[in-house]
Amino acid sequence: MDPQQDLSRDSFRRLVAGLRRHLEEERESGFEGWPLGVKNETKQKPAGERADLCQDRTLAEVRQELGECQRCKLHRKRKHIVFGSGNPKAKLVFVGEGPGRDEDIQGEPFVGQAGKLLTRIIEAIQLTREEVYIANIIKCRPPENRNPEPDEIAACEPFLVRQLKVIQPKLICALGTFAAQTLLQTAEKISALRGKFHSYQGILLMPTYHPAYLLRNPNYKREVWEDVKKVKAEYEKL
Ligand code: URA
Repeated sequence: MDPQQDLSRDSFRRLVAGLRRHLEEERESGFEGWPLGVKNETKQKPAGERADLCQDRTLAEVRQELGECQRCKLHRKRKHIVFGSGNPKAKLVFVGEGPGRDEDIQGEPFVGQAGKLLTRIIEAIQLTREEVYIANIIKCRPPENRNPEPDEIAACEPFLVRQLKVIQPKLICALGTFAAQTLLQTAEKISALRGKFHSYQGILLMPTYHPAYLLRNPNYKREVWEDVKKVKAEYEKL
């Protein structure tokens, strides 16, 4: 026999014996084989998009995906990410603009002066902050409370969208220009948008003036009261 052929037959035999030993060891250790259908699963879509398809995601998982976010420049000066708070199964969600000084310090939405007014508005329609959910378009405080910039909204809004997908509210109250214009993808003024229901992904959305605006312009309280009464009327029907 050709010594070369003999050598390769011998190494093949050793390879098979090694494989057999390996399989026996795996079986003894309780290994039950490779799952079928794992091929390319992780290559099909980036993690974020894949997770979007999952209806059973929790708010905690969305928070985890957000992580110690550095997707926009606001992370540099923030003290806390203000994710949102309230009932994860809320039928009604209030969406504001973004955290101010107090919210940045405490990590909770609407806890400053505007927040106290929002709490009173919620209680005026016989609900509590614990029954509803409160979030913002952006989750980090813009310096000097300036308006959110388009790149900041673009980076942050997908997480609000995911929160809303998890909560599946029946009603949304958009507080102020930024919330209303961002969710409704419109440049219409808040004065034109408020007072009537719009549709956000099939969810009834009522835009109204922001509580901080009301603190500066208390004569608009009547309009806000009219708007939230309509929200309450729809809530009662649920
Ligand atoms: N204003 C907002 O829009 N959101 C807050 O959380 C606080 C003030």
